[in-house]
Amino acid sequence: TTRRFAGRTAIITGAGSGIGRATAIQMAREGANVALFDLVNDRTSALERKLNRLREGCALAVDVDTSSPERMEEAVRRTVERFGGLDIVFANAGINGSIGPIEELSIEDWQRTLSVNLTGTFLSLKYTIPHMKKQGKGSIIITSSINGNRRFASFGFSPYSTTKAGQVAFAKMAALELAKFKVRVNVISPGAIATNIDESTEPNEELESIIIPMEFPEGQQPLADGPGKPEDVARLVCFLASDDSSHITGAQIVIDGAESLL
Ligand code: NAD
Repeated sequence: TTRRFAGRTAIITGAGSGIGRATAIQMAREGANVALFDLVNDRTSALERKLNRLREGCALAVDVDTSSPERMEEAVRRTVERFGGLDIVFANAGINGSIGPIEELSIEDWQRTLSVNLTGTFLSLKYTIPHMKKQGKGSIIITSSINGNRRFASFGFSPYSTTKAGQVAFAKMAALELAKFKVRVNVISPGAIATNIDESTEPNEELESIIIPMEFPEGQQPLADGPGKPEDVARLVCFLASDDSSHITGAQIVIDGAESLL
């Protein structure tokens, strides 16, 4: 296998599960040191042990809520101290949050989704950018969703879709701002991927029961029988993180097996 990331360090948020986990494994296989940022500590520490068996010392599990400024600043500092630099940031942690008709959502419902998905993305860039600017090179990838601007069939997901659209605008602004420092920023928009994301839906049976039924079966993708796999997305993220994509910045890449065309 090629080792595109030999000697490079990556921060991956939401590394304990799904897309983040698959990406951490792929990057480590290709030689990267990986900092695994997640709330769920037992999952990331299990992954840390697995990756350190692959290559001693390549993984560091960091127990951190990406929406907390203090915790994020400290987590980034620890990572750079441990690995001696920073080349790749995968701002990927996200939640479905509360779903339901807009007038039924509380301000807390709204703010929780914004704080994890949008503020968490902002902080993932805020504290890492200085390190990449200093080395005059870097690649940042943000996980949005086709729910952000291509397909709005998931009724009741207004906070989620708003954050996913916001991430696209934020990524493009960041790409412009950082181009002169040779730091690239791209945003990916997956369709349905088989992960644990449904666990992050705030349970609310009352609201869920009055959501307008989906117009399309969720996760139907012309290219596949069901949803995509986390590994499919990991390969795209690795391409965007590597020098193979050295002239790509400010791009939004849809990875959905044509789901958004239905
Ligand atoms: P997942 O639930 O399997 O993994 C997400 C991980 O993020 C979990 O380990 C969770 O603990 C972590 N996380 C959540 N909030 C956090 C916080 N505040 N701080 C730190 N870690 C936190 O889900 P996934 O599908 O792999 O989700 C990754 C990203 O992909 C999300 O941004 C999601 O919106 C996006 N996405 C997913 C799909 C899909 O169908 N699965 C489709 C489009 C976009």
